[in-house]
Amino acid sequence: MSLIVMKFGGTSVGDIDRIKNAARKVVAEIQRGHKVAVVVSAMAGATDQLIGYCRSISPRYDQREHDAVVSTGEQVSSGLMALALQQRGLNARSWQGWQVGVHTDATHGKARIADIDAIKLRKSIDAGEIGVVAGFQGVADDGRITTLGRGGSDTSAVALAVALKADRCDIYTDVDGVYTTDPRICEKARKMKCVSYEEMLELASLGAKVLQVRSVEMAMRYRMPVQVLSTFANEIGSDLPGTLVAEGNKTMEENPVTGIAHTRDEAQITLTGIEDKPGMAAKIFGPLARAGINVDMIVQTASSNGVTDLSFTVSKLDADRAVKVLDDEKKAIGFEKLASLREMSKISLVGIGMRNHVGVAATMFETLAAKGINILVIETSEINTSVLISDEYTELALRSLHTAYGLDKA
Ligand code: ADP
Ligand code: ASP
Ligand code: MG
Repeated sequence: MSLIVMKFGGTSVGDIDRIKNAARKVVAEIQRGHKVAVVVSAMAGATDQLIGYCRSISPRYDQREHDAVVSTGEQVSSGLMALALQQRGLNARSWQGWQVGVHTDATHGKARIADIDAIKLRKSIDAGEIGVVAGFQGVADDGRITTLGRGGSDTSAVALAVALKADRCDIYTDVDGVYTTDPRICEKARKMKCVSYEEMLELASLGAKVLQVRSVEMAMRYRMPVQVLSTFANEIGSDLPGTLVAEGNKTMEENPVTGIAHTRDEAQITLTGIEDKPGMAAKIFGPLARAGINVDMIVQTASSNGVTDLSFTVSKLDADRAVKVLDDEKKAIGFEKLASLREMSKISLVGIGMRNHVGVAATMFETLAAKGINILVIETSEINTSVLISDEYTELALRSLHTAYGLDKA
């Protein structure tokens, strides 16, 4: 007998029929002889609606009240799922984040889980109850409700699987696995049977939102097998129909590129005419960091006559604030001009095999050049190569790179 954590995302609990369908899958796992704990997201669209309410009342909202409102989506779906399971004759009970002991830090809106005191839940599972846990929520030391950031129910599920020492964490979603690239953009994307933690972490952090980055970090740290699978298919998790995120293997390392991720959330800011002397980067990035703005890709041009240009990317959502922070610091930094481009996209090749292959980046540049796509920034790490391009070319770039690296399905 195994203990399986089954997580149902927004689409999987999007309406009453889908909740009933998810409940059927829980019943099927139990009939196979497994113990189960369930984690649910809010019904599709609910979180966006709740965030919209907060913004329309007060654009500079209090993050604690924001979390009080936004966490309620999962309260509703966990109660409904418990009811659906009861309807099928199971002894089910819902648990909110605070009830199940999901302790987090106090960074409201993107809190990190410190620990889960799952003793009560464990006891109830051992007594034959099905615990339905509201994902996305936790509780800070001061007793206030926190939320874990968009897509955070994935992290709730993996964290709970670790705390309960489960055998596997199944993530039911609207696609039947992890693909070589977003299957909604590239119809030739191929489903992977398994993907290593390391590559999944890279794919997720570079934009493949199928799993929240922190859930992969946690699965990797505790070596928890995670399966991504479809809520619409007939098979259940124990049939292993999806993509298993687990330890890497040799076959994968032989392919230079395993997958391609993208984010359309990028803005590029360029400062021209900066004096080329020690301390300039600190003068620019210090105030941005203090304003809580995350900077991603950075390039500096070669200095000419002691003057240089610096270009970097931030999330589109932070672009206005970043421009303001830099304008306020204009005198202290001493740049000539500030320019910003908002509609940018970052395309990233990911693969453990890149470590041992030469020419991977060159193929990327040639492919994009052949399509007339201009590259604004390039960034490489051991297992990824990323470029910044204009957002209008996102689909074209993804599809042509997918073909160029031989990833298209047969
Ligand atoms: P849920 O609401 O179930 O958490 P998400 O919308 O967060 O679902 O994640 C699933 C989506 O992730 C898919 O619909 C797909 O468009 C997107 N996605 C992006 N990259 C990939 C990828 N490489 N493989 C599979 N899905 C991907
Ligand atoms: N409901 C939250 C969101 O929409 C958390 C999740 O679905 O994982 O981001
Ligand atoms: Mg998600």
